[in-house]
Amino acid sequence: MVNYVMEHIDRAFKLLLKNHYIDDLNTHTGVIYGVWANYRLAYLNPAWFRFALENGGEPQITADWGLGRSILDCMSGVVREFYKAKFDKCLMSHEVCNHLYECSSKTVYRRYHQIVYPLGDREGLLFVNSLITNRPHDKEKRPDRDANELFYVDENGFICQCALCRRTKNLREAERWDWVPEWVRQCPEHTSHTFCPSCFGHYFPLTTTTSKGRT
Ligand SMILES: [Zn+2]
Repeated sequence: MVNYVMEHIDRAFKLLLKNHYIDDLNTHTGVIYGVWANYRLAYLNPAWFRFALENGGEPQITADWGLGRSILDCMSGVVREFYKAKFDKCLMSHEVCNHLYECSSKTVYRRYHQIVYPLGDREGLLFVNSLITNRPHDKEKRPDRDANELFYVDENGFICQCALCRRTKNLREAERWDWVPEWVRQCPEHTSHTFCPSCFGHYFPLTTTTSKGRT
């Protein structure tokens, strides 16, 4: 029981994340969480708590949204039905799903990209959320190109994009992958393709992993 609180991960669920590099998930600046097939929370990364704190959600978030709580409880009516059907399909078909959603506060408009990875043998889901690039709001509005140079272009003039989910590596932070819409439509000439840790874990597992262990 103590481990649940300390690590914010159900011990059995940790086995399902074997291929997903838990250290990377914990370092990721985006909110990541995992649920069992019944949608009850089994893993929360540190960014979950940071986001709650920065948005005035604490201490209620930690009190109300611990492990074991169903993520479907935050939705109702047709929205709940829509997402449940979407996530059920991901779970049963073992196909990754992607979508965009809005999560604004009173003062900030925010849009996110969410990837949902099915885990194990229809045993759970991993939700990886990335902020859709926000341009810096400088007084003298800078062109997008400058902002992109700042965040994504390396010293050789290349951006690094995941060939699978198409998110772009943000070079300013240790483990951050952003959804840059214009580069999803068409990537720049100087693009090196790689795999982000989440996709690498999902598409190239070393072994098949279930919550009962490796098979
Ligand atoms: Zn990826």
